[in-house]
Amino acid sequence: MKALVLKKPGEAVIESVAEPANSADQLRLQVRMVGLCGSDLNSFRGKNPLVSFPRIPGHEVSATIVSGSPVDPSLATGVTVTMSPYTSCGQCAACRRQRPNACQFNQTLGVQRDGAMTEFITMPAEKLFPSKLSLKELCLVEPLTVGFHAAARGRITTADTVAVLGCGGVGLGAISAAHFAGARTIAIDVDDAKLEIARKAGAAHTINTDRESLHSKLLELSDGCGPDVVIEAIGLPHTFTAAVEEVAFTGRVVYIGYAKELVAYETRLFVQKELDILGSRNALPEDFRKVIRMLEEGRFPVQDAVTTVAPLEDAPELLQEWSAHPARFTKIMVQVS
Ligand SMILES: [Zn+2]
Ligand SMILES: [Zn+2]
Repeated sequence: MKALVLKKPGEAVIESVAEPANSADQLRLQVRMVGLCGSDLNSFRGKNPLVSFPRIPGHEVSATIVSGSPVDPSLATGVTVTMSPYTSCGQCAACRRQRPNACQFNQTLGVQRDGAMTEFITMPAEKLFPSKLSLKELCLVEPLTVGFHAAARGRITTADTVAVLGCGGVGLGAISAAHFAGARTIAIDVDDAKLEIARKAGAAHTINTDRESLHSKLLELSDGCGPDVVIEAIGLPHTFTAAVEEVAFTGRVVYIGYAKELVAYETRLFVQKELDILGSRNALPEDFRKVIRMLEEGRFPVQDAVTTVAPLEDAPELLQEWSAHPARFTKIMVQVS
């Protein structure tokens, strides 16, 4: 069967690979469409320390069940699903606290192990989520769950004003989750096109920090107090510190962005404001179910969020182009079959 294989940093090819062996505890799936995200671009560039080469990428997946589950009728042959790409060991501290999304030994599909950018894969039934959503929508579920999980970590309620720094895929997920939870949501970015999509995803207000002062705009939109919750979905040192500077006293800060450098903090703000500072990683099954419900209700601008759909054969060239011109694409999806 065909697969997209990252051979070494900067080199991707379509190659013939062995089909996965059938096993009793796994379902066989025909891959239909796979979304690419920033982490795949990092892997292609050789900048993802978790990836070794050669590697088949792909963790945002829609697929059709080829051989169905004998115990779960919702996972019958022919049903279309999306999937959780994570594993959990069941033994580590995170797993023992029922938080397998943060498993110390997690292996994400397409990152620490080969992914779904190929014709057939096998997966255990408990990782699959059946739905009548379109293939495109199913591929958007996983990236949106990351933002939904961050919103869950922030314990967002209808009484909250929530500011989200960054309107990429993850930030958009956090915005739609905050809106879905009934909060008043403020989207922050430097790109007007992304802010426009954020509005369609539920942001009541937007701030373009290239033109507007983040601090005075946030005060103006929050009765002079600052937002109750700030979600950081960029990963830059200045947005990491802005989150604790701008959040209200006794507010919550949630970090999903991955900072690549050291960040220096005015730590007295943690104490003075008595902040809850929370990390957020990957997502739980309940986040998947929530995102599927949100998409089934038609509450997300799917057409705006996906810029490119291309066949598997074009994927190597597309990765080169994306790497050379990252701003040209928001979301690329690869039609596998
Ligand atoms: Zn992703
Ligand atoms: Zn674990």
